[in-house]
Amino acid sequence: MDVVSTDRMIAGPGSDPVRGKVVWIPGKSLWITGMTLVAIIGAPLTFSLDAFVVFIILTALTICLGHSVGMHRLLIHRSFAAPLWLERTLVYLGVLVGMAGPFGMVHAHDIRDWAQRQEACHDLYAHRRPFLTDAFWQMHCAVHLDHPPRFVIEDRVARDRFYRFLEATWMLQQVPLALLLFALGGIAYVVWGVAVRVAVSLTGHWLVGHFAHRGGEQGWRVDGVAVQGYNLPRFGLVTFGEAYHGNHHAFPGSARLGIEPGQVDLGWWFIRLLSRLGLASEIKLPANTQRRAGLRRVAAVVARPGPRRRACPVLRTLLR
Ligand SMILES: [Zn+2]
Ligand SMILES: [Zn+2]
Repeated sequence: MDVVSTDRMIAGPGSDPVRGKVVWIPGKSLWITGMTLVAIIGAPLTFSLDAFVVFIILTALTICLGHSVGMHRLLIHRSFAAPLWLERTLVYLGVLVGMAGPFGMVHAHDIRDWAQRQEACHDLYAHRRPFLTDAFWQMHCAVHLDHPPRFVIEDRVARDRFYRFLEATWMLQQVPLALLLFALGGIAYVVWGVAVRVAVSLTGHWLVGHFAHRGGEQGWRVDGVAVQGYNLPRFGLVTFGEAYHGNHHAFPGSARLGIEPGQVDLGWWFIRLLSRLGLASEIKLPANTQRRAGLRRVAAVVARPGPRRRACPVLRTLLR
């Protein structure tokens, strides 16, 4: 098998995206379990309309501005350029999602992206296993490849002292926010603004990743790779554009994910707003980026049966 490199994943002659074992990651697993338990027990006990509004606002800010625009479209893909203070602010909001630090996020994204671009890859990177196995694997484990590629973050980012600080303290970054929320609205704001938000964000992130690699609408196909991406149009709005994952596989460098008519992409709207304010430039779009090898236009909607049969029936219906 010919193994290709990506920007930060440097493949050597022995690099292998298939062979490896799934190992339980205690820190990540206990973190998500703890947040989820506090959310399940605490949410009904502390519910109020204003606590719920706090949850919605903070989720929108951290997922849209932080995760989607700051981490994914800017730090990882460099799909636009922004002043450093703005980049750091957006990345900080992305850390508040509670998934990982900046380097951990880049690595998690890039190793999956690298594996998916090869002719074959490990089942974890492809979300190939049934629903509950995939949930456990993605949210509590990681693959330790026998022969991984070399991971090299660009110097400017790797040496950034603010990013290094966030990487070392990403879980603790919830504390200042929790104190502020406690001062504003007591324990209810902390439960909804931290635990419920982190639990919903992490579970939602896995769900979108699970379904967006298993089937659905696809405007483009990439031939010769192990894994395809699919659009989940019903989730385009609440994921701030990230659910147009078929488009992302087709045009990974594009700042705009909702590229087809009618695809609402709030993350892209935010980047356009930044651009109007003079804070975003060098914006990459499908029209001004190099076309991926193997990319071809397919009929707008392709329903693909297959492994999805084993997924939870309620979610499967919702996502169809
Ligand atoms: Zn993908
Ligand atoms: Zn990406």
